[in-house]
Amino acid sequence: MREPKTSFAGMTRIRCNGRKRSALPSQPGLPDSRVHFRWYTDPPANLRISPTDSAAATYDQRMRRSIFTEDHELFRQSVRTFIEREVTPNFERWDRDGIVDRGLFTAAGTAGFLAIDAPEQFGGGGVEDFCYNAIISEEFAYAGAAPAGIGITLHNDVCLPYFLSLTNEEQKQRWLPGICSGNLITAIAMTEPGIGSDLASMSTSALRDGDDYIVNGAKTFITNGINADLVIVAVKTDPKERHKGMSLLVIERGTPGFERGRNLEKVGLHAQDTAELFFTDARVPVANLLGSEGMGFLHLVENLPQERLSIAVGAVAAARQALRWTLAYTHERTAFGQPIAAFQNSRFVLAECATEIEIAEVFLDRCIEALNAKELTAEEAAMAKWWTTELQKRVVDSCVQLHGGYGYMLEYPIARAYLDTRIQTIYGGTTEIMKEIIGRSLRP
Ligand SMILES: Cc1cc2nc3c(=O)[nH]c(=O)nc-3n(C[C@H](O)[C@H](O)[C@H](O)COP(=O)(O)OP(=O)(O)OC[C@H]3O[C@@H](n4cnc5c(N)ncnc54)[C@H](O)[C@@H]3O)c2cc1C
Repeated sequence: MREPKTSFAGMTRIRCNGRKRSALPSQPGLPDSRVHFRWYTDPPANLRISPTDSAAATYDQRMRRSIFTEDHELFRQSVRTFIEREVTPNFERWDRDGIVDRGLFTAAGTAGFLAIDAPEQFGGGGVEDFCYNAIISEEFAYAGAAPAGIGITLHNDVCLPYFLSLTNEEQKQRWLPGICSGNLITAIAMTEPGIGSDLASMSTSALRDGDDYIVNGAKTFITNGINADLVIVAVKTDPKERHKGMSLLVIERGTPGFERGRNLEKVGLHAQDTAELFFTDARVPVANLLGSEGMGFLHLVENLPQERLSIAVGAVAAARQALRWTLAYTHERTAFGQPIAAFQNSRFVLAECATEIEIAEVFLDRCIEALNAKELTAEEAAMAKWWTTELQKRVVDSCVQLHGGYGYMLEYPIARAYLDTRIQTIYGGTTEIMKEIIGRSLRP
């Protein structure tokens, strides 16, 4: 379990990574339910994003987002400094290797950026507030390092809720401390080589044999697939049934019969490991069942809205960052004796992107509030997921166009963003499936 964390109210000095940190002002009047995290930086002189050019400066003076308190902004500053120190210097290497170091997870755990909503007794932050999760995802996107953050986002936003809501006391004791510290990296495996959208047709089987399940089958496209220590695997405990035959098992690294395939070569998201998993007579204790046997589909349905909202957060942040890069570029690059940004067409394209991002963010923030209030519906999460990811595709494509040929060169972040963006409308449920979910719910 990690060391107890220090609340920043009343905190004087802490050490992080062996370096001394400055005194922080106490924050009288802030609510007590704040997340406790380790400072990675000196106290911020200015909480606003510091833009690097005047065009971006103007752009960043955008509508105030009402979901974030001063507490959240302090957290954001700390995440930003963490990324500058722990992620940016390693990002190129991870991009080449196709995987982040496991140390990123333990560093994030030490800093208090993992499992913010897990109880403090297990090393979590003890605060149920998705704003903190959103900040982490946004800051990775703003740093141009989104692919390196996906593993953490999946761990926090997608997998952790299953470990919090479906585990018994023994399972919590066994897994949560490692999940909070980053020593146990998580993944979730639903997709199989033969099925993705049509989950109920999956064929990975888990047949009861005494106190174990014998698991046979294969999963593919699994995020954190190489790094993961605990994989939530969707299985058929009753292969004759469709939805009612599904259950969730936690399959641990080292389980005999559980093997990983290759780290798949993707179009983008190169720093993110995505793998095939194979199960051949893998013996998994019944004690690793998550929730109830036969209720796996329902458990997925309950947790998928948060996964989709998490993807939407990343989509809006990535679109915003793409626009920032493009504002900087189009103000600097000239053609026909004037900056690219001065052409009316450029202004219109940039205006359309900026407008749509603002609108998307308003809906996104509303969804985050709804999630925090436990009111977010599957349909609203589906709306957020498909619309923001399609927006991200449109914005990034327009931004590439405004970069001209340089937008096609991988040394420019917009080119990488183009590659990283394409998957957003596919994973976590395709745009078409999102529209199915929404469409089915619409009645006079
Ligand atoms: C980089 C990456 C990471 C991923 N990470 C994970 C992970 O961590 N865990 C995991 O379980 N999965 C993961 N996936 C899998 C991902 O969720 C699936 O690829 C996705 O759900 C789509 O499934 P599929 O690829 O089988 O496509 P299909 O289901 O075969 O769909 C193909 C096309 O048909 C359309 N289609 C299908 N059904 C309908 C319908 N009823 N109506 C209209 N159109 C339809 C789809 O929209 C799509 O356009 C990942 C995938 C990638 C590429």
